[in-house]
Amino acid sequence: MPGFEIFGEEEKKEIMDVLDTGVLFRYEFHDQRNGVYKVKEFEEKFARYCGCEHAQAVTSGTAALKVALMALGIGPGDEVITQGFTFVATWEAIFEVGAIPVFTEVDRTLNMDPADLEKKITSRTKCIIPVHMLGAQARIKEIIKIADKYSIPVLEDTAQAAGGTLDGKYLGTFGRCGTFSFDSVKTMTTGEGGMVITGDGELKKTMSEYHDHGHDHKVNPGGRGGEGRRFIGFNYRMMEIQGAIGIAQLAKLDSMIVAQKRNKAKLKEGASKIPGVSFRELMDEDGDTATFFTFILQDSEQCKRVNESLRADGFGAINWAENSWHFYPAWEHLLGGKTTSSCGYPFVSPGGKRRVIYDPEALPKSADLMGKTLVYPVSIKMGEEVLDNMCKALEKAAGA
Ligand SMILES: *Cc1c(COP(=O)(O)O)cnc(C)c1O
Repeated sequence: MPGFEIFGEEEKKEIMDVLDTGVLFRYEFHDQRNGVYKVKEFEEKFARYCGCEHAQAVTSGTAALKVALMALGIGPGDEVITQGFTFVATWEAIFEVGAIPVFTEVDRTLNMDPADLEKKITSRTKCIIPVHMLGAQARIKEIIKIADKYSIPVLEDTAQAAGGTLDGKYLGTFGRCGTFSFDSVKTMTTGEGGMVITGDGELKKTMSEYHDHGHDHKVNPGGRGGEGRRFIGFNYRMMEIQGAIGIAQLAKLDSMIVAQKRNKAKLKEGASKIPGVSFRELMDEDGDTATFFTFILQDSEQCKRVNESLRADGFGAINWAENSWHFYPAWEHLLGGKTTSSCGYPFVSPGGKRRVIYDPEALPKSADLMGKTLVYPVSIKMGEEVLDNMCKALEKAAGA
């Protein structure tokens, strides 16, 4: 999973290029920067890597979601559909633009269930955000077919699947745009940072202006600040040092995925001995980034027994039903409508009317699946001894 495991001379060299100029800002200072524009270079390289025309760097994966939603014109009165198994950032961004998140079930891909998606589309649905969770593909082609039928744009939350593909095409390039995160635990990292990719030049232009207070980024006679303003914006600018680290990490992404695949294959071999075990459905095993290894038990009872045995050996796995950050029924702040806003927004409108109520029992299929699923994060440098010990623990848990 984490690119921080392999920081090296390459990252240091890129950072020193920036410090040598003293310019940390991605725009302006043309005379001082000696031709060094790291964020711009990172955007161009990331877009090219994904086989996409445009990329917009921002401060985080959460900011990437917000900037993309703003550029798509999403706002109050709109509904945005995403899946009930994701990181909280996906729906935080939906609330942040004033829209209401609507959640679908996940299926055995552990991503959006297209049949449930179609049931949840209403006349207010203005965007669909499938998430490529745990490094692997959502049923993105099916989802886009449904979205096209209703002319709704698809934004792919690809925060956990940089470098992942489906039938040779990069995840994040199927929909109108795709967002990425480079936070400290993602496959490639810049500490904090994010990116939106798109083939739509107009969308890129809107994102570029919005993420920088509305500046248009053209060389113009008035200089920065002398240009006109099309709309109000905000500040989500990436810093040159993050761009520099991103360039070095991107060059290592393919080799990180190769290492993760090797480690994941070992774990899969170990877990295969558990009676009745099955695995997460992968649309395309070649395109999996192998950041996580997921195994599904026959029922939640067996799942608990197996995990108890694994815990006793020091290798307890993640069960998302017990983890409060990634699965709907455990988002007590969402379900309870808790907010810092004194008027209760975004759960309550400024006029005092309730905007949305979330039922904890709303996703029974996902709850059943999550209750019997165990997950290990896969990292780059796991070491033979650790892998062997994990496999031994899995074999022992087979008898639980
Ligand atoms: C990490 C993550 C994000 C948010 O990224 P940050 O860079 O931490 O803001 C969004 N969506 C998913 C699915 C994530 O895993």
